[in-house]
Amino acid sequence: MTKMTSKKAIELENKYGAHNYHPLPVVLSKGEGAFVWDVEGKKYFDFLSAYSAVNQGHCHPKIIDALVKQAKTLTLTSRAFYNDVLGIYEKYMTEYFGYDKLLPMNTGAEGDETALKLCRKWAYEKKGVPENQAKIIVCENNFHGRTITIVSMSTDPDARKNFGPFTPGFVTIPYNDLDALETALKDPNVAGFLVEPIQGEAGVFVPDEGYIKKAYDMCKAKNVLFIADEVQTGIARTGKLLACDHEGVHPDILILGKALSGGVYPVSAVLADDDIMLCIKPGEHGSTFGGNPVAAKVAIAALDVVKDEKLAENSERLGKIFREEMEKIDSEMIELVRGKGLLNAIIIKPKNGKTAWDVCMKMMENGLIAKPTHNHIIRFAPPLIITEKQLMEAVEVIKKSILAFE
Ligand code: PLP
Repeated sequence: MTKMTSKKAIELENKYGAHNYHPLPVVLSKGEGAFVWDVEGKKYFDFLSAYSAVNQGHCHPKIIDALVKQAKTLTLTSRAFYNDVLGIYEKYMTEYFGYDKLLPMNTGAEGDETALKLCRKWAYEKKGVPENQAKIIVCENNFHGRTITIVSMSTDPDARKNFGPFTPGFVTIPYNDLDALETALKDPNVAGFLVEPIQGEAGVFVPDEGYIKKAYDMCKAKNVLFIADEVQTGIARTGKLLACDHEGVHPDILILGKALSGGVYPVSAVLADDDIMLCIKPGEHGSTFGGNPVAAKVAIAALDVVKDEKLAENSERLGKIFREEMEKIDSEMIELVRGKGLLNAIIIKPKNGKTAWDVCMKMMENGLIAKPTHNHIIRFAPPLIITEKQLMEAVEVIKKSILAFE
């Protein structure tokens, strides 16, 4: 077999893969901690962390051990039978996050779909909303995944164009707008408010302080479920275990994914108390792979790592340093630095025709990979195990790359 090169790997993907992504031209073949290596052996800081799935760092030995051990013992039983790991995982998760029950799924989108179904079921069976009338409030510029129902909630033309007809039952309001929420909540058929505590894909849009808490209180006053999509913001990414913890909010329905597995395996979860979760009865929802023994063991190990290695504390501390360092960079191209914990973004003002994409290409050349979103925003989200020394080295790479355009 001929040796794989970056050029060859890119050609293969272009020729045989659907063109539904536009990757940076780097071909990765190895990862460890905060670093990845390309097929030619060049080392990079990973400042995307697989869209915040690899919070615990690449190939964390404890998570990989759990994966390998369970993979050699029992991988999948389906939910037609019990297995000896799922119950332990469910107990662990409900105690870890403070809920009565867990519903295990695989991807973030499935987690969101599950939460929507659960919310509707609760609306009809507990709140007394007339059949097929339930509405769920969502926010402009949200990102919850890619299924037909989820893109029905989207306001992004790329996510929607030529994918209709769409699922009805959603009311869209501007994000970070409590007056709009108050108006939408007047409708007695509103069952839930689905929100990202920080909008990740929108470009790390951080709402005003107090928004999440006030929105939660307003929902409670109207008997509306507050549903937090913490698929990207959860698991220590923003400097607390959950982004909602910054405002002391315990969502009625919590959706987790991504780093729940340390990026090792697709694992997502929906958590709620009995009054809500038990609205779904046997046969009404499920997934062949959801709650399989490998996923369960991997997630337990991944969450152990978050606690043992104090990743929330590290994220909080290093996040502040990172934003301070970014603000010090003397470049007209940096319009704004924003974020919480180690979920940050800079907004790039194009200069001499050079855009966020060019900055990312330059950073790649200098040994750090990150990806632009919406053309002018670069998200910086390194694995949370990154040390202060590594972070400062990475800051130097970012600085040097941006200043190259001055
Ligand atoms: N929800 C949020 C907030 C996300 O950021 C994402 C992915 O980026 C998803 C849901 C979808 O997750 P998945 O790609 O695993 O379906």
